[in-house]
Amino acid sequence: MDAPPLGGKQNIYDYIAERRCGVERYRVKPGVQVKLAEWDPSDYSEFDEGKKKGKAKLDELTDQLEELQELLYAEGKHKLLVVLQGTDTAGKDGVIRHVFDGVNPQGVKVASFKVPTPQELSRDYLWRIHQHTPARGEIVIFNRSHYEDVLVVRVHELVPQEVWSRRYEHINAFEKMLADEGVTILKFFLHIDMDEQKERLQARLDDPTKHWKFSTGDLAERKRWDECVAAYEEMLSRTSTDYAPWYVVPSNRKWYRNLVISTTIIQALEDLEMDFPPAEEGLDEVVIE
Ligand code: AMP
Ligand code: MG
Repeated sequence: MDAPPLGGKQNIYDYIAERRCGVERYRVKPGVQVKLAEWDPSDYSEFDEGKKKGKAKLDELTDQLEELQELLYAEGKHKLLVVLQGTDTAGKDGVIRHVFDGVNPQGVKVASFKVPTPQELSRDYLWRIHQHTPARGEIVIFNRSHYEDVLVVRVHELVPQEVWSRRYEHINAFEKMLADEGVTILKFFLHIDMDEQKERLQARLDDPTKHWKFSTGDLAERKRWDECVAAYEEMLSRTSTDYAPWYVVPSNRKWYRNLVISTTIIQALEDLEMDFPPAEEGLDEVVIE
């Protein structure tokens, strides 16, 4: 790897160069049929120094992300879209809080997609999504996304199969259009198992400050675990492309989940080979009186 463009932090560059191949193992290769049972949600094989060191590493990575995000914003050329999907308690909110800790809120936006409003439902399902795609220089994080329209909509039979089954193609075409227009797209599926979800739901029940996050509807969702898995598997198998890859992130361990996502985002930003825009002519002669 070349010398770091931003100076210092050589150790972090080494770490990322080393892990570049490492996190690649979580990328779903286009055309592969995903069986989630074959993906270990407790895996931590790319960082074997434990939780404490893992958290310290994330601190270094968030500094790095902060610098890269400033460069993205200053250069004003590229756009980054990060899509987060995963069952309740998988950690979508946690990723936003921890991985993006310290980035300048001016250049980073979060779009959270809830149950569609009547206005949204009266249009095509991508309408509400498209309005939130990133502008030049921006990072946009989707907390849930257009993928709900082949997930919850499928599992709860909100539209007939013939309607949702056509959507994989629409979504691939939509993302291809975004990619052709200069959007870098990274999609993370936060993979936890049923035992881990049980613990996390229980923790929400036990802590009054977490009750706001608990919805009895989540329990109905849990009852349909197998159907959800089938929907996730088809989503991952049919919509992981070269221009918008899915990563199946082992997420039973929160610190490891954060490391994998942070590393993947940083390496994607580095691949953009960004530069600060050139200074105005004659700046070196400027004297401030
Ligand atoms: P949360 O992310 O926990 O705030 O919950 C948001 C809820 O909105 C989840 O239960 C999602 O399944 C639901 N949701 C998001 N998008 C859609 C959609 N397109 N159709 C139906 N429900 C949705
Ligand atoms: Mg929820």
